[in-house]
Amino acid sequence: MLVVEQNGLKYLTFERFGNVTHGIFSRHGGVSNNHATSLNVGGTVGDEPGSVLANKQILFGALGKNTSSMFDCWQVHGPDYVLANSPHTAASHTNPREIRADALLTANPDVTLFMRFADCTPVLLYDPVRRVVGIAHAGWQGTVKHAASNLVRGFTHIFGSDPGDIQAVIGPSIGPCHYEVGHQVIEQVITSYGRKANELLQESAHGKAHFNMWAANEYDLRNAGVEHIELAGICTACHTNDWFSHRAEKGRTGRFGVIMALPEGME
Ligand SMILES: [Zn+2]
Repeated sequence: MLVVEQNGLKYLTFERFGNVTHGIFSRHGGVSNNHATSLNVGGTVGDEPGSVLANKQILFGALGKNTSSMFDCWQVHGPDYVLANSPHTAASHTNPREIRADALLTANPDVTLFMRFADCTPVLLYDPVRRVVGIAHAGWQGTVKHAASNLVRGFTHIFGSDPGDIQAVIGPSIGPCHYEVGHQVIEQVITSYGRKANELLQESAHGKAHFNMWAANEYDLRNAGVEHIELAGICTACHTNDWFSHRAEKGRTGRFGVIMALPEGME
């Protein structure tokens, strides 16, 4: 994992993704000057629409991409993936026909996958053999619905990927140190992960259950046959100076952006 600092931006890249254009962007380097300071890309958090647009342009521009290549969607905490064959830039929660998905994949270098996070777990996938990239958005709901392994199945079903070829990154999200959960979540983790749930739900010093979404998503990916997995190991709630955290900032925060695109000009 590399931390890149450039023009006020600070973002993570991963050597295992080779020449894939990608970044997990911290909150630094944008134009928002409010509770969503500063590189907020969330359109539903009370930030100025003009600032959100400018931030998207900054983020894409930093990696040499145009926002016209963006594939955006309405993230709804579900298990479903969508094949992003061509750019889709009009994402808006006010548009009833908006594409709803929590995982995207593409083999088209003209498409830049884009998703937003603030505590939910970003899962980034790259198959260097079939030349496919994908991102999943896995909060507790996406994690118990197996959004990450569903995305692996998308790679397999659509592009014939061998999960053993896939390189995976589990990005910054709320960590086991901070993610206290209640009965509703506990029950669904047990239903979804069976005996493994004992390890995924750890008891804090105060006797509360903490859900380890990092370990859950790693387990989910391994069950789907993915072997090459890197964990960023960064808790967003521990590091609100760098990352937006819905939990730690009590909902008054922004969303950070993750993008992924295949290099252009490849056969
Ligand atoms: Zn923490």
